Amino acid sequence: MRPPSCDVCDERVDTDEGALVACLVDEATYEFQRRSETPGFVGHPPNQGWFCGAHLDAAQALADARALADVVATLRGSAKVVDARIGTGRSLRWQLTGSRTAAIERLMSFGQLALAALGHAAVELTRSIERSYTPMDGVGPPDCPFTDNVVLDGGDDGVTIRITHTANYWTIEDLANESAHLSIRSGTDQLLWLAVFGDRPTLSLSLPGSSEMIGAVRDHFDC
Ligand SMILES: [Zn+2]
Repeated sequence: MRPPSCDVCDERVDTDEGALVACLVDEATYEFQRRSETPGFVGHPPNQGWFCGAHLDAAQALADARALADVVATLRGSAKVVDARIGTGRSLRWQLTGSRTAAIERLMSFGQLALAALGHAAVELTRSIERSYTPMDGVGPPDCPFTDNVVLDGGDDGVTIRITHTANYWTIEDLANESAHLSIRSGTDQLLWLAVFGDRPTLSLSLPGSSEMIGAVRDHFDC
């Protein structure tokens, strides 16, 4: 066995966090299995790679559908994957290159593609907007800070989708902060959580479920 260093970033793999991942069995792996029957043969199965804690979840999400070299190339290419472990869920993050507003627009238009990537039919989305004011320093509506929540939601067959864009304004001309998230649920189960936030926009994907979903996200957000 090779000493454990991460195939993506070369960090030493702490086996409490990182692990050996078996990727798609390819031709080289079949050849390895054939040769490994020779007495005295020592080697490392070519479909298995070590991944550190930061890259493990992303590698496992891709492993069933891709060969090791492809998994490594994909994760190296996305040096923008800055944190692959958040909380207890499976999560990926990308630092996006465009503006936050552009990323939020993309999120607002990702609903049907996300449903399709989860194997669900399209649903009709209803748009609503709600403004709430925060009176401050003796200034009340409409001149005080306010928050706009734009919500797209819909559902069918127990599956519900909700996309929320929250924008905080000091004044109508002075946007303080904005973020957006997309959530898809089946009953009480969260199937997908996707969020855009931060000045240099970060895209966070939780519960991706499949390499198909990761592919759909990367295509749509160009990351
Ligand atoms: Zn790594």
